[in-house]
Amino acid sequence: MISKLPNVTTSIFTIMSKMAADNKALNLSQGFPNFKSDPFLIELVHKAMKDGFNQYAPMPGDIGLREIIGHKTNLLHLKKYNVDSEITITAGATQAIFTAIAAIINKGDEAIIFTPAYDCYEPAIELFGGKTIPVQLKAPFYMPNWGEVEQKISTKTKLIIVNSPHNPSGMIFSEDDMLQLQFLAEKHNLIVISDEVYEHIIFDGLTHYSAARFPELASRSFIVASFGKTFHNTGWKMGYCLAPENLMNEFKKIHQYNVFSVNSPIQRALSEYLQTPEHYLSLPRFYQQKRDVFLELIKDSRFKIIPSKGTYFQMLDFSEISNETDLQFAERLTKDYKIATIPTSVFNESKEDFKQIRVCFAKTEETLQKAATILNTI
Ligand code: PMP
Ligand code: GLN
Repeated sequence: MISKLPNVTTSIFTIMSKMAADNKALNLSQGFPNFKSDPFLIELVHKAMKDGFNQYAPMPGDIGLREIIGHKTNLLHLKKYNVDSEITITAGATQAIFTAIAAIINKGDEAIIFTPAYDCYEPAIELFGGKTIPVQLKAPFYMPNWGEVEQKISTKTKLIIVNSPHNPSGMIFSEDDMLQLQFLAEKHNLIVISDEVYEHIIFDGLTHYSAARFPELASRSFIVASFGKTFHNTGWKMGYCLAPENLMNEFKKIHQYNVFSVNSPIQRALSEYLQTPEHYLSLPRFYQQKRDVFLELIKDSRFKIIPSKGTYFQMLDFSEISNETDLQFAERLTKDYKIATIPTSVFNESKEDFKQIRVCFAKTEETLQKAATILNTI
C-alpha cells in the first residue's frame, strides 16, 4: 500500500517517554503533570456516572458545558459565542485541530505554520492534500516577523495556524502580534486556527490575547482549547472548539462522523467544575510558582535560560556545554544522567538545531528538585 503520510514516523514525545522508561530516567520530556487532578473534579465525574450520564452526549457536546464555556469566553474576552451553533466539545485539542484542518484544507491549498510547531498540524494538512509553509521562529526569543509571514502568503494560502502561549518555546503573542495577524488574515482572506491550549498558563502578569478578543479575527478563526492542559488530566482527552457559525457548520459535519460526540460523564463534571472561575484563574499563580522554583534551583547550572512566559515548558540552551546535536545531547542525558527532555530541532524547518532542549515543569516540587540536582551536574 502506498502510504498517505510517507514522512511520518513515531512522535518525539512517544520516543522520549519510552527512552525515559527504558532507562529509568526522570521524565521531563512529554508534556504532562505528574501530580493529581483535583479530587473534587474526579468526584464530579464519579457522580455524573452514578447519576446516569453514561449514554451519548448531544453531538456538539453537553449543553451545560457549552453554556459555561460561552460564559467563560465572554467573561475573559468579551466575546459571545452562540452555545447552539458556535461551540463544540472535542476529544482533546488534537481532535479539534484535525477536524478544523479537515474542514478547511483542499488539495493544493497552502497552510502557514510557525516552526518550531506542535507536531499534529503538518500531518493533518498533508493528509487532505495541503502543503505546509513553515515560518521559522528564531532562538532564543522565537518572536514572529510578520513581514516574513506576508512574504510567504500566496494565492494558494488558505490557512494560518498560530499557537500562543507557544509550545515548545514558552513565547507569547503580544496584542500587536494579534493585530498584525488580524490585518494579514483579512487582507489575504485567510482562515485561522488559534491553538490556545495553554491559555491559562501565562506568567509575570502578562495577558493572553485570545483570537476571540479581535472581532475581525474571531470572525475567521477556529479557537482550540484543552481541558487536559488546564485541569491536569491530559489522559481524559477533553477539549473544545469555538468558531463562527459558518465555519462551525463545516466543522460539525466532520465531527459528527468522526467521533459523533465525546465522553459524556466528564463533560457533565466539567460543566459543574467550571462554575468556579478560580479553578482556572488560579493557574498562572500555580504554574509561575513551579517555574520560579525550578529556575532558582538551576540558576547556577551551565544552561543558558530565558524564562518561559507561558506554557509549562522551559527551553534550556546547552550550547556552552556541548556541541553535540540536540538529539544526541537529549539521548545522552537520558541514558547517562537519567533525565529525559525533548530535543526541539524536530519541530523546526529543515530540523534546524538551535541547541535547545525543552523540559516540562508541570511536576511536583520533589521531582523538580531531583531534576535540578541532575541538571546542575551537567
Ligand atoms: N496543541 C498544543 C500546542 C499542545 O501542546 C498540545 C498537547 N497537549 C495539544 C495541542 C493537544 O492537546 P490535547 O492533549 O488536548 O489533544
Ligand atoms: N502536548 C504534549 C507535549 O508537547 C504531548 C502530547 C503527545 O504526546 N502527543 O509534550
